[in-house]
Amino acid sequence: MLAITGTPGVGKTSVAEVLRSRGYRVLHLNEIAEHYDCLEEDGEEKLVDLEALVERFSEDDFSADFVEGHLSHHIARRCVVLRCNPVELRRRMEGKGWSEEKIAENLEAEIIDYILVEALEVCEEVHEIDTTGKTPEEVADLVEKIFRGEVSLPPGGIDWIAELGDRIDEFVRR
Ligand code: ADP
Repeated sequence: MLAITGTPGVGKTSVAEVLRSRGYRVLHLNEIAEHYDCLEEDGEEKLVDLEALVERFSEDDFSADFVEGHLSHHIARRCVVLRCNPVELRRRMEGKGWSEEKIAENLEAEIIDYILVEALEVCEEVHEIDTTGKTPEEVADLVEKIFRGEVSLPPGGIDWIAELGDRIDEFVRR
């Protein structure tokens, strides 16, 4: 099972939909958490009890090709981290109708490589795709190739802080 992870708003759900339409079995992390009774409702939000989930999870309980979600790297040996330039990511997040606070929080997480750093700590095999300027179909093509072991896309080539330069102030709260 390959985990598709990345900052909220980066495009995981869109890629998952493309992969499903191509016949792959893709689960959301919340479905797996629910199976183990590790999903709590908190108003509109659903919170995963990650510690309990990691303890209870066994890959043998599921026959899925992919698991997607911004915490999915915690339960997989292999993962792909989707990335997006903050300028484009802001547009994707605005398209979802998120509050400024939620946008700012998640943009910061993307800029400091938050999910990538976590993934490198917990997964044995980590890949990274820059989705900037790519359609969900093009991203899904690459994810499929990683899944089949046809390509390896090791992380390390992305530096949003350097790319933003002076524009960093627009993206990081003081
Ligand atoms: P996530 O599941 O990571 O939170 P979504 O798949 O919901 O992200 O995508 C966030 C928004 O960005 C959606 O409005 C989606 O239509 C748009 N989007 C997703 N992937 C792309 C892409 N490759 N190019 C442009 N827009 C995208």
